[in-house]
Amino acid sequence: MEIPQELKTPMQFIKGVGPKLAEALTRMGVATVHDALYVLPNRYEDRRELKRIRDLRPGATYSFFGTVVSAQPMVTKGGRKYFEAIVQDDSGSLALKWFHFHPMFMKKNWEPGRRGIFIGEVSQFGFQREMHHPEVEWAGEGEDLAQVMARDPDNFGRILPVYPLTEGVTQKVMRKIMRETVQRYSRYVTGCLPADVAERQKVLSLPVAFREAHAPDPDSKVADLNLGKGEAHRSLAFDELFFLQMGLALKRRGIAVEDGIAFQVAHRYTRELLKLLPFSLTNAQRRVLSEIKEDMMSPHPMHRLVQGDVGCGKTLVALLAALICVENDYQVAIMAPTELLAEQHYLNIHKYCEQLGISVALLTSSSKGKGDTLDRIASGETKIVVGTHAVIQQKVEFHRLGLGVIDEQHRFGVVQRALLKKKGENPDILVMTATPIPRTLSMTVFGDLALSVIDELPPGRTPIETRIVRESRRNEMYSVVRDEISKGRQAYVIYPLVEESEKSDLKAAVQMAEHLANDIFPDLRVAVLHGRMTAAEKEATMLAFKKGDIDILVATTVIEVGIDVPNATVMVIEHAERFGLSQLHQLRGRVGRGSERSRCILMTGFQRSEDGDKRLQVMVESTDGFAIAEADLEIRGPGDFLGTRQAGLPDLKVADILRDGGVLEQARKEAFALVESDPELRAPGHERLKSELMYRWGGRLELASIG
Ligand code: ADP
Ligand code: MG
Repeated sequence: MEIPQELKTPMQFIKGVGPKLAEALTRMGVATVHDALYVLPNRYEDRRELKRIRDLRPGATYSFFGTVVSAQPMVTKGGRKYFEAIVQDDSGSLALKWFHFHPMFMKKNWEPGRRGIFIGEVSQFGFQREMHHPEVEWAGEGEDLAQVMARDPDNFGRILPVYPLTEGVTQKVMRKIMRETVQRYSRYVTGCLPADVAERQKVLSLPVAFREAHAPDPDSKVADLNLGKGEAHRSLAFDELFFLQMGLALKRRGIAVEDGIAFQVAHRYTRELLKLLPFSLTNAQRRVLSEIKEDMMSPHPMHRLVQGDVGCGKTLVALLAALICVENDYQVAIMAPTELLAEQHYLNIHKYCEQLGISVALLTSSSKGKGDTLDRIASGETKIVVGTHAVIQQKVEFHRLGLGVIDEQHRFGVVQRALLKKKGENPDILVMTATPIPRTLSMTVFGDLALSVIDELPPGRTPIETRIVRESRRNEMYSVVRDEISKGRQAYVIYPLVEESEKSDLKAAVQMAEHLANDIFPDLRVAVLHGRMTAAEKEATMLAFKKGDIDILVATTVIEVGIDVPNATVMVIEHAERFGLSQLHQLRGRVGRGSERSRCILMTGFQRSEDGDKRLQVMVESTDGFAIAEADLEIRGPGDFLGTRQAGLPDLKVADILRDGGVLEQARKEAFALVESDPELRAPGHERLKSELMYRWGGRLELASIG
């Protein structure tokens, strides 16, 4: 749906906006009044009544009325100049400070005895509260407070919006032009939300929501508004999220109507494999497998995400799906993010497939005899190909690809998913992730995938005991490690590897390995594993560790995912504070794979940081990957979590998928129900939805199926 003509009015037509201001606004992405309406306040300021100085609390913005007692330039102990004015009312006094100021101008304006309304954020320094760079509204000679407030009814006596700004635009100016814009133009906004949805969800019409968001009703609770709990915010967010979810529902539907492969399930290989295993499937594995089977048997392509905490046995589920594919005489491609992981999958899968008489190949950029491998894949002789990105390279041709499996989805983008799909004729796609995806993200980033969750660990695992150990007590860590090894167990020591400082981090890891080998554990077998080693070296080291020929493996995060050595019972993570929580959880998942009690030791620096401690404490208290991922998301924000930016979704201008999780859920429910009942959007009143969707999703939504 096109934006109504009125809303395309350039900002220059707004009263008070000249060419210069228009240019500044354009810089912040505001060219038209439509853009402006969507610049919602960051927060709201309560100026319904003024506070008394005694009641000002650090950390919030206040306005109060007072009298200047003194005002003069000063110098800090560090030699920095600042200007200070002391202002008082009948309840107390407060220091106002400027660190950038014009001495003459300040001196002239800030005369003792002058009265005014002062507005700013209160901060606390030691025992003293102060306000930096406040705004001021001076009282005229003999004017009382009520008169000052009445003089500027736009800025006093109400709840004020606080807007994001750009250089050359002050808060006051921004408020003025926004007020003008909202008053004149919000009426032209047309909503497309179906009436029954709007009514059920009790959302305000868009014009009302915009007016209310920019100029809240004086009876609103400011705290609620600031938490995004106001009705206006909820309504605008719902509108946005509804169309996001409509798009996802249609995408999913689009896949569902494509022609795919209808596999037959005869259990020729799967039954045999289950007999070979020394254990039986968990209930969760069984359930997820039957969901996958159902998808595979349907004549439409599968697009399913299997999500499950580390160690829950996803690989096995993928292998069983692969075997169904093979028994139908189709090929399987399994793609992992690192060579090491691909190799490990290969070894695991190969072990079983050999006994079943199925040929498996490993394909990475460094694998040898690649020409032959490629030939065998093209001829169809190779049934299962395990590899890295190499699998989706152009020169790789499959004879008959029926299933593509992507392990650790968050390392790959949608592009890779699409490339893998193109290697066959609408093959089934199975995506696996060990990174627990918080609900809000699985409803957006992966919203077009059907979701299966393996929410159960194989029996006999003992919970991992996690401790934070400070650098000053490093020896305690050493004795835990020695203790475990004396019982015949093995240990990991993990070093962070950050891209910017990769070289020095690598050096640190290698030096640590040497230090441990020579000085701390001269009697033990210590080896190092890092990303700069060749694939063959890595494999040899990993194998030696697996076989028990190495006691302590010092590794950089290359072992982050998927490595499986049940005899390893200690995981030491150096500089734990440098890792994300989800990453720590992944690492920790490398131990606790057998029935022995396992421990994880998080090493942190000498210095305490309250935030850092609190963050790591989450690891001590929880072993639930979902809870940890939620906490991580809260701390770090969704920005770079799982590479959401690559996900190809429309921008969200209002909604915040963290804060608005509840709204998101409602919007998803409504949108999916609507698409379910009217997949082609033909019902009267639904045609407008189509054009609105086209508009909001731009080219990102291929709606071929609804024409
Ligand atoms: P994930 O990839 O989900 O982290 P894996 O597939 O690597 O987990 O499985 C972890 C370990 O658990 C492997 O050694 C695997 O053989 C084993 N395993 C898988 N399923 C079961 C089961 N049902 N019972 C016991 N062990 C299992
Ligand atoms: Mg795995």
